[in-house]
Amino acid sequence: MALTPAHVSEAHSRDLTENERHIVDEIARRRDELVALTIDLIGFDTTAREHDDDPPRDESALQKYLAARLRAAGAETDLWEPAPEDIAGSPMTPTGLRFDGRPQLVARFPGAGSGRSLLFNGHIDVVTVEPRERWTSDPFRAEVRAGKLYGRGACDMKGGIASMVFAAEILASLGVRRAGDLIVCTVTDEESTGAGALAAVAHGVRADAGIVTESTDFEVKIACRGSLIPTITVLGRPGHAGCPQPHWRAGGAVNAIDKASVVANALRRLESDWRQRTEHHHPSLWLGLMVRFLIWVGECISSTPPSRRLVYHIAYPPGQADADGWGRHVREEVADWVMRATQADPWLAETPPIIEWAPEVPAAAVAPDEPIVPIMLAASADVGRPGRAWGMDGWYDGATFTLGGTPSIAFGPGNGSKVAHIVDEYTSVDDLVAAAQALALAAVRFCGEA
Ligand SMILES: [Zn+2]
Repeated sequence: MALTPAHVSEAHSRDLTENERHIVDEIARRRDELVALTIDLIGFDTTAREHDDDPPRDESALQKYLAARLRAAGAETDLWEPAPEDIAGSPMTPTGLRFDGRPQLVARFPGAGSGRSLLFNGHIDVVTVEPRERWTSDPFRAEVRAGKLYGRGACDMKGGIASMVFAAEILASLGVRRAGDLIVCTVTDEESTGAGALAAVAHGVRADAGIVTESTDFEVKIACRGSLIPTITVLGRPGHAGCPQPHWRAGGAVNAIDKASVVANALRRLESDWRQRTEHHHPSLWLGLMVRFLIWVGECISSTPPSRRLVYHIAYPPGQADADGWGRHVREEVADWVMRATQADPWLAETPPIIEWAPEVPAAAVAPDEPIVPIMLAASADVGRPGRAWGMDGWYDGATFTLGGTPSIAFGPGNGSKVAHIVDEYTSVDDLVAAAQALALAAVRFCGEA
């Protein structure tokens, strides 16, 4: 059953102070404005870039729209286009990535000065709407049908952004004075590289805690795995597939598929070795895993395969990360296992595979007793959405903020693991309202009332 705001009010009013009740009721009363805000955000085409040099779309227009709203609500805003060198040297971003037409936004609602500061963060980019013809309605013109708001990003994560922005606006409009600052930050490029949040951290965006309003279905996400993407090129030697071949030392052909399987078997053994290392496991995350993709390049059926490319997506738990959060040690271990396997094979020992690494994203974990965790859990329960503190299957910008000194959870409306990125993506309006209510309560409780 979906809880309506009326149910929420009845079931939980006893848990709220008079001031908190006022905030929650005001958000419920103005839910149409929250829906309109979400529809506005979805109306900007902020499809994520597929290639580093893809031109911007409506990112700048959306950020200006939010900046104007937040300024009107009393925030000090900073809208800036990062320079490529701002994020240079990070293992995360492709070298020279440019932000032209993709500004980042930070809006600060100053507190009275004595309390803890809280960061609300969301990414404005969305995945492609293709196959667009399969949508029931225009993915950029969101509409509400039977209590659900449909449009690209409704779930991941313009719904979450709308909830957090609306929560901040309501607190401002009610004149709720907080002791600590409330910072609202929207970034680009989460779906592609994570570069927007990295640029925000480099710009100095920091707080005592962060809430990234990804669609967690009211769970409080406290950990995610890091990702590495190695491409391992294994060389064979071409020869006529129909002719008998001498030994390779005598110039015979070498089948790259056979040699690639030496590497693949070694990494399969490494993966099962990881699963035995219980000291690295995180109680609420899947184990580290490697998903293998095989790519073959330029060959014909009458020749022995000359080379094979193995591409892996490696996801490893925070316990396996380096002290600074990155995956250097995991990278070295993969390279070491590949090297040891190839040394046992005379051809590969003389023709070693080549490993190339794509930009990575870091693992991160927030301790379950970080103050923001119980505060967010209680706030969500108090608006009728009890949840648990748990790990995130995907990745989120919170890892970047956490490594940057702001312990950041994810919490937001919609069920991202089911509905994100799909055709006819949606979030229920009740979810948007409950998330805005919970976020407003969390902000007041974390920052303290002045
Ligand atoms: Zn997302």
